[in-house]
Amino acid sequence: VRYKQTMEILKIMRNLDQVRNIGITAHVDHGKTTLSDSLLAASGIISEKIAGEALALDYLDVEQKRGITVKSANISLYHEYKGKPYVINLIDTPGHVDFSAKTTRAMRVIDGAILVVDAVEGVMTQTEMYLRAALEERVRPVLFINKVDRLIKELRLSPQEIQQRFVQIIKEVNQLIAMYADKEFKTKWQLDPAKGQVAFGSARDRWGFTVPMAKQKGIKFSDIVDLYKKGKEALPELQKLAPLHEAVLDMVVKFIPNPREAQKYRLPKIWHGDLNSEIGKAMMETDPNGPVIMLVNDVRIDPHAGLVATGRVFSGTLRAGEEVWLTNARMKQKVLQVSLYMGPYRELADEIVAGNIAAVLGLDKARAGETVVAVEYKDAMTPFEKLRMISEPVVTVAIEPKNPRDLPKLIDALHKLSIEDPSLVVRINEETGEYLLSGMGPLHIEIALTFLRENYGLDVVASQPIIVYRESIRDKSKVFEGKSPNKHNKLYISVEPLDEKTISLIHDGIITEDMDAKQRAKVLREEAGWPTDQARRIWAIDENINVFVDLTTGVQHLREVKDTIIQGFRLAMREGPLAMEPVRGVKVILHDAIIHEDPAHRGPGQIYPAVRNAIYAGMLTARPTLLEPIQKLDIKAPMEYLGNITTIITKKRGKILQVLQQGAVARIVAEIPVAETFDLAEQLRGATAGKAIWGQEFSRWAPIPDSMLLDLIKKIRERKGLKPEPPRPEDFIGF
Ligand code: GDP
Repeated sequence: VRYKQTMEILKIMRNLDQVRNIGITAHVDHGKTTLSDSLLAASGIISEKIAGEALALDYLDVEQKRGITVKSANISLYHEYKGKPYVINLIDTPGHVDFSAKTTRAMRVIDGAILVVDAVEGVMTQTEMYLRAALEERVRPVLFINKVDRLIKELRLSPQEIQQRFVQIIKEVNQLIAMYADKEFKTKWQLDPAKGQVAFGSARDRWGFTVPMAKQKGIKFSDIVDLYKKGKEALPELQKLAPLHEAVLDMVVKFIPNPREAQKYRLPKIWHGDLNSEIGKAMMETDPNGPVIMLVNDVRIDPHAGLVATGRVFSGTLRAGEEVWLTNARMKQKVLQVSLYMGPYRELADEIVAGNIAAVLGLDKARAGETVVAVEYKDAMTPFEKLRMISEPVVTVAIEPKNPRDLPKLIDALHKLSIEDPSLVVRINEETGEYLLSGMGPLHIEIALTFLRENYGLDVVASQPIIVYRESIRDKSKVFEGKSPNKHNKLYISVEPLDEKTISLIHDGIITEDMDAKQRAKVLREEAGWPTDQARRIWAIDENINVFVDLTTGVQHLREVKDTIIQGFRLAMREGPLAMEPVRGVKVILHDAIIHEDPAHRGPGQIYPAVRNAIYAGMLTARPTLLEPIQKLDIKAPMEYLGNITTIITKKRGKILQVLQQGAVARIVAEIPVAETFDLAEQLRGATAGKAIWGQEFSRWAPIPDSMLLDLIKKIRERKGLKPEPPRPEDFIGF
């Protein structure tokens, strides 16, 4: 039966007109998971009609496996529209953690998005962020207004009031589309409920309708209100009257373009290579006979199969047994198996043609974001995404297994976790032997711990999250001499703050360490105003956004120790002079050097301290400071609590950025240091009788107020077992 189903799906997949690649995006808790679970339950199984036989047994319990969609990189849904079968790939788009890279990556492989908005809460920050991210990658949105049952049952709104609320949400979404979509789509992609581009319903109760569907079936909103009055027993009747999957998937099939149509206008936006090259043309045509090109958007470790790379084939046909080139990993690997998705499961296929989503075994050096290309085209390929080295952990917890015997299992699980989510950093504290897990925020860590529990059955004990600060400087230093312990090597180094523009170019992966040096110099000159000599002579860019520039001329033996100096720079930036926290945003300039002619006298043991001493002395004289992570908060609460909320935020060193009144509800956008957020939930609930709802996410790094600096340095140093006072510049230059 399964074989037959696979063949049937493959047949549909070859006809791209019958394929859609989509994602679901939503503000946290608006119902993304519930909607995908509901769709999977109704449509994740190829129907008996098409397979000609009964369902395979193991698909039967899908409905009971709530949350299964969360664990799958893709689920394929099967849907018939006007008698024609369609395969709809629902690709997992990440939650609100590590927003930029992962989200953009997911947006590249989908052509449409179902934007889910909670009817009670309305449009929230993440609604806007995700919609914007989608539009920027030319992903076409449709809207599902969810939790309408709450308007009926809890808020007891009249049908008129409910309609007003719908109109308001649609208006807000359309304003965002007009704001963020590219010019040619601003009008074209406006959502018109009369055309069926908006669905209304309840993902939890599994009903939904669009205006045309309601007209066609003669559904009146008052019917639904009446059914709710009857209570739980009426749910099946509701579900039959207005099936959720029909409302939502009809909308997808009708308004989301098929992969071939979409690639034509999306490619110029999501890929920066030459559109007139052979590769460019093949992708513009979604040519199954073109060179194989696949963008990996997700990598997961399957306990049985090993590393599974899931992505979209943009051109060519991916087959098992063929060798392909991994652009970022810079190596050849052999495709061992290709699979398609059936519901949440992977099924072996002989080949997957362009326009579709494939799961691949064998590419165990691939990471999310990898561009896979036919080996013959390896030099011609411009990757979709350059390798990003930047990871910016904000909080760290020390973890250990509840049961000490689980330690090997924990180590293994952490290793896998950091492959699947490179923004999680795992380290061992050499002194204590503790395992340290760092992430983008307290919530990111919490999700990782839940994942360990649910997917690996590991109960772990975690310490209170510790904030990871950054060390930086606010002035230019003069040139300092850094001596090696044997005094035979001398490096003359100054430091200065990197400007914000350069920091963001590096953060966004536009400037990288391994890019073409000329190209890099050009961007730095033109976009960040770098002087030509410096822009051309970058030796290194580290993972914490620090840059090493060489301005020396004619120094003997410098070339032989270049790599050692770079390594010394990296090590120094990993633990800054103030409190051994990572350094961020510093430009290190080497002006001159004296290097001993005998290799025996210029090894790492000599060069590392020379580099470090000069950098640290420079930093300590350049108004050093600590940067702390700042979170953005988006709070909604009844107007009467505005004062209470403002008081809490201000007390916590926060800043109100914006207050909007939406009916009787106040929406407050604010910033607050992560250090102040640990009891925030409690306080907000307490101050608003539990009526506030809010979202939070990482916003930026900001200098600690000067009045707090010394105290904080002391606290961090003591925690690390260092003497409380930070070193002085003299400690590094041996006056
Ligand atoms: P996600 O964070 O967007 O994935 O949101 P979830 O799907 O996990 O839903 C968040 C919460 O809202 C859960 O408690 C769901 O049960 C609930 N929920 C989701 N859809 C509905 C709905 O249509 N009606 C109601 N009343 N609750 C819902």
